[in-house]
Amino acid sequence: MSEEPEKNVKKPAVPPHVMKIRYYGVRGSIPTPLLPQHIEKKFQYLITKILTSKNFKGLTLKEIFKQIPFYLKSTYGGNSPCILVQVKGNILIFDAGSGIRELGLDLMKQEFGQGKGKAKIFFTHTHWDHIQGLPFFTPIFIPGNQFEFYSCFPDLEERLKEQHDSRYFPINMDIMQADRIFFSLKKNESKDFEGFTTKTMKLNHPGDSYAYRIEANGKTFIHSTDVEFNDKNYDQMFETIEFFKNADILTFDTQYTFKESVSKVDWGHSSIQIGIDIANHSKVKKVVLFHYDPTYSDQKIDEIVKIGISYKNTIYPDSEIEIIPSYEGLELEI
Ligand SMILES: [Zn+2]
Ligand SMILES: [Zn+2]
Repeated sequence: MSEEPEKNVKKPAVPPHVMKIRYYGVRGSIPTPLLPQHIEKKFQYLITKILTSKNFKGLTLKEIFKQIPFYLKSTYGGNSPCILVQVKGNILIFDAGSGIRELGLDLMKQEFGQGKGKAKIFFTHTHWDHIQGLPFFTPIFIPGNQFEFYSCFPDLEERLKEQHDSRYFPINMDIMQADRIFFSLKKNESKDFEGFTTKTMKLNHPGDSYAYRIEANGKTFIHSTDVEFNDKNYDQMFETIEFFKNADILTFDTQYTFKESVSKVDWGHSSIQIGIDIANHSKVKKVVLFHYDPTYSDQKIDEIVKIGISYKNTIYPDSEIEIIPSYEGLELEI
């Protein structure tokens, strides 16, 4: 019997000198879909604006759309954390929040659909919002695919299996037919892989969380989420500044506004202001806001981005840090 023709396999076109990052889930704590009233409000605003604004006269719909703010015409997304990084032929996945379901569907269009895919999944920690998408990750059910699991938790496999206990989920992990190998990473140590290196750093978060520093081709991507800085761990600020040093992209936990972070001490999260303070000292090039609180509307996230930019311009007027919000589908290359 002849095999499926190779020409149907859509390969990711990422040149070897490029690290490509795509965000599939950016919401923290719990998946947060848009509600009908949110969609209705966006539509009402858009239709009114298009019908009444003199500035839009004579423009095509495409031209009008370009001028509408992102938070009104789209959404930052409601899936919990998942980021894809492609570098030198490697597929790296950071966290398996609900966003990994959509990533799985995209991977199925490539060699993973034929049981020929290989990927490494790195976990920051195992709070629900970072593992809950795994049972819905289609490529892991396809025999032939190979997945390597990495974390600083030696009992990661056990933890993930517990999520599949029949009291919480109908099928156990043995149904997943792809090869699964679990590896433990050492806390605060570097590890070389073919084509890139990783380094971890323990973060202040209930139950612990770990940041990842990924380096390849002289470029650095950092995934640092679920972390709190307060007067009890002030010392860690210096270690963090060192860990973030000269990063091209820093994905940072900006779950709260500064005001909320003061009222939610020990909840384990940060604010945009703290992210900018550290990033400035570390000479980070781009800060990507991440892990939005489930109560935040698209409009509120838009406001937080503006607050962040204004904070940077006021406190660090000479800084060239770029501050951008993550959203589902955001693609960056370094
Ligand atoms: Zn989280
Ligand atoms: Zn957490």
